[in-house]
Amino acid sequence: MTDGDDTGLTIDDELVARARIHAREVIDDHSLEIDRDALEWTVTTRARRRAGACRWDGDREVATIVLTRQAYEAYEWPTFAGVVRHELVHAWEFQRFGESGHGPRFRDLAATLDAPRHCQRFAVPRYVLRCLEDDCDWRAPRHRASKPVKAPDQYRCGVCGGSYEVEHGESGRTWTTASGYGGAKAALGDSW
Ligand SMILES: [Zn+2]
Ligand SMILES: [Zn+2]
Repeated sequence: MTDGDDTGLTIDDELVARARIHAREVIDDHSLEIDRDALEWTVTTRARRRAGACRWDGDREVATIVLTRQAYEAYEWPTFAGVVRHELVHAWEFQRFGESGHGPRFRDLAATLDAPRHCQRFAVPRYVLRCLEDDCDWRAPRHRASKPVKAPDQYRCGVCGGSYEVEHGESGRTWTTASGYGGAKAALGDSW
């Protein structure tokens, strides 16, 4: 099951849309020399320790900003927007100079954009509760297997009262019932 079934808009679409809008504002506000036609965006659920990354394809001269869905879910937007700006500085360096790091040139622009100087280290929450109602974006990280984690069918969304799913952070497995929890736990075995 995905978020926002009726609109066809998934959480990844939402994440990329917000990031692109934020990037455009930052580029315009600072007259940054970034070619947005050579800037691509993608979402990963596999980067377990990084909130974002920027890849450079030197042949196509295209920078790709990779954003981690679990970080988007766990962070408040202002923090995640800082991740977007950090990766934007990498994209700028790649496009202008064909390389990027965290040196003085990076730090200067990061300071100008009020972006974090270092790539954000990110610890995936053990569990995330996520409302399944289309018009509700309630999410809540949980660090232990509390009752709402083990039996989501017996509880309701903390905002709208709708049903919610639980995601196991490390594996990305989700469930909506107590038996689903048992099944996920059994399937993961030692890697739980
Ligand atoms: Zn970085
Ligand atoms: Zn809700």
